[in-house]
Amino acid sequence: MNNLLESIEEILLMGPGPSCVPPEVYKALSCKTLGHLDPYFIKIMDEIQVLLQQLMNTQNKLTLPISGTGSSGMETCFVNLIEPQDTVLILKNGVFGVRMEEVASRLGAKVDAIEFEWGTPVRPEIVKEKLEDKSYKIVAMVHAETSTGVRNPVIEISKLLADTDSLFLVDSVTGFGGIEVKVDDWGIDAFYSGTQKCLSCPPGLAPVSFSDRAFSVISNRKKKVPNWYLDMNLIGQYWQKDRKRAYHHTAPINMLYGLYQALLLIFEEGVENVFKRHLENHIKLKEGLERLGLKMYVEESYRLPMLNAVTIPEGVEDAKVRQILRNDFKIEIGAGLGPLAGKIWRIGLMGHTARAENVDRFLKAIEKAL
Ligand SMILES: *Cc1c(COP(=O)(O)O)cnc(C)c1O
Repeated sequence: MNNLLESIEEILLMGPGPSCVPPEVYKALSCKTLGHLDPYFIKIMDEIQVLLQQLMNTQNKLTLPISGTGSSGMETCFVNLIEPQDTVLILKNGVFGVRMEEVASRLGAKVDAIEFEWGTPVRPEIVKEKLEDKSYKIVAMVHAETSTGVRNPVIEISKLLADTDSLFLVDSVTGFGGIEVKVDDWGIDAFYSGTQKCLSCPPGLAPVSFSDRAFSVISNRKKKVPNWYLDMNLIGQYWQKDRKRAYHHTAPINMLYGLYQALLLIFEEGVENVFKRHLENHIKLKEGLERLGLKMYVEESYRLPMLNAVTIPEGVEDAKVRQILRNDFKIEIGAGLGPLAGKIWRIGLMGHTARAENVDRFLKAIEKAL
């Protein structure tokens, strides 16, 4: 029988995720599978938690990877915190804010959203006005909006929430591992990310973290968390050192080896060096694109280094160029979404992808493709 795995081509992943996976992580994925309550595996779990806490800059005990992609992290945060009729404010300026609204609404929350133009950041002064009018149980936003390449002002919003009872919920699926995240200093109560963006691990896990305040809300719910699989009361018992390890669901053992190795790589290189590498390669890409006459879609002051939105020049066929890149040059980039479909390309420089040789290879390819 023809085994399709034998003819997978090596594609340079320069889209909005997944990103390129380093060889050390592939190797980790193929290590021998242990049992999910094996003492040696539990040692690895403990290490993963410490590394996640360090990269998130948090002391939160309830910090662990959820079994599922980034969206399962989103679902986990909302499903544990929301009870029907709870008030939620979502600050949205792209696909992932829209997804938050969908997830929160399905849980029976009363959801308000403030929409900002896609390609521009959340504006704190407008949020401030809204919060003067009404208080919310949860205020949620996306740190790094992958659909547009915008970095949102998490710190400014956290300051607005400092003296309120609102829980602050932040998506940093794309930011985490590529730019600084400070869960404790930024007053974040519920945080989630994903493995296949700047952590450069294949998709399949969603690191999350809950503050003590959020955990006390979860433990004192009137009704049980409606989703058994994502119930942090139960998952916490498996993951937390000071609680009795109990089987909840079989942990995705080999995926966790991959995450462990990916985190080790970040700390071996040095967290600051990793952030610097993302920034330097972003600047290199931007300068190269500008030499070719291409324009960045997002203004410099709130541009993300790991997700570069580029305006598609007039008269250029969006899909055709992406097809040439994929077929002739073995490079994947992302298309625009929603109102930005056909208007931008999304060029990812996430994790292991963010290296000078990849930027050079891409610039040569796009020049020829155009
Ligand atoms: C990719 C992404 C998600 C969703 O993650 P999946 O792994 O696709 O489920 C959520 N939020 C942001 C900002 C993302 O970039």
